[in-house]
Amino acid sequence: MQNAHLAEESIQNKIELLGLTSEELRGWMSSLGEMPYRSRQVYQSIHRRRVTDFAGMTDLPKTLRNILEDHSVITRTQIQNVFVSSDGTRRYLLGLSDEREIETVFMPEEHRDTICISSQVGCPLACDFCMTGVVGLKRNMTAAEIVSQVVIVLNEVYGAGNPIPHRTNIVMMGMGEPLLNYDNVIKSIQIMTDQDGLVIVPRHITLSTAGVVPGIDRLAHEAIRPRLAISLTAATDELRNRLFPINRKYDLASLMDACRRFPLGERERLTFEYVMLDGVNDGDTDARLLVRLLSGLRAKVNIIPHNAAPELPYRSSPMKRILEFQKVLTDSRLPSFIRRPRGQDISAACGQLAARRTATA
Ligand code: SF4
Repeated sequence: MQNAHLAEESIQNKIELLGLTSEELRGWMSSLGEMPYRSRQVYQSIHRRRVTDFAGMTDLPKTLRNILEDHSVITRTQIQNVFVSSDGTRRYLLGLSDEREIETVFMPEEHRDTICISSQVGCPLACDFCMTGVVGLKRNMTAAEIVSQVVIVLNEVYGAGNPIPHRTNIVMMGMGEPLLNYDNVIKSIQIMTDQDGLVIVPRHITLSTAGVVPGIDRLAHEAIRPRLAISLTAATDELRNRLFPINRKYDLASLMDACRRFPLGERERLTFEYVMLDGVNDGDTDARLLVRLLSGLRAKVNIIPHNAAPELPYRSSPMKRILEFQKVLTDSRLPSFIRRPRGQDISAACGQLAARRTATA
């Protein structure tokens, strides 16, 4: 028993390689006396080839593989369960090293895959229509844990080491508010976009925030910037205060100012997500207020049918109302898209991720 405990303790003390930038890995391996080209081989193995154990690093000498095994682990994240929807969406319950659980969602499409990843265990923001908010914040995720979601999901779908047939989009819209775990989120983006790694294109990463204004301003100055999405869902402070408690701290005026300051690439638009709540925010007047709020911004609106959960007091607007709402936006030349609900039969949709066992942990 004591030996098992010591073994567990020594695993916890090992460095988790998926959370190191290529520069950090080079520094760490140099402290072990290894040349930079060796660290590049290791980085490519764990990110580009998505090798899951040291024995699979066959381009390294056995002595080095043994040293790596003694001092590090590739990841501690493990798949606990996979729920597969009739539409091909896969919802993953992933176990972290402290036995907390998070959720990740894989959505295949014809020419691309989208992976919706979590950034915190739970979420502190308690948005009124979101199951993750009901859980509350347990802790921030490390960069290694954030990156591990992508590696693990790609391996589960395509097999470790196999090429990905088409482009991978990452959306940071799972559990948590990414801008409240800023440093780990930015580091994970740096790792995922590395040319020796997963080579995810920065504009194929979307970070969604409920409106953490200082975080938006900070993000504006990053060298590697994901696309920005604002989870808006209400066009007045009165309604937004009710749905998003964070709005009492950063109101719509300050949020819109931050959006106007945010630098956009050529042809890039800010995305505003608008969850359709029956009888709450889905009238023509709400649509007109939304148009007015976003006027002057290079914006597009993602209209999201609400995904009901028994614990939440909202229903989705009927499709007829959603289409009428969209017509007001279209008539005002505000681009909008109605998001097709994904993974409804496995509770994999936006606002439903809760890792229900975490809720009671
Ligand atoms: S909607 Fe996003 S920010 Fe709000 S509680 Fe849910 S996970 Fe947190």
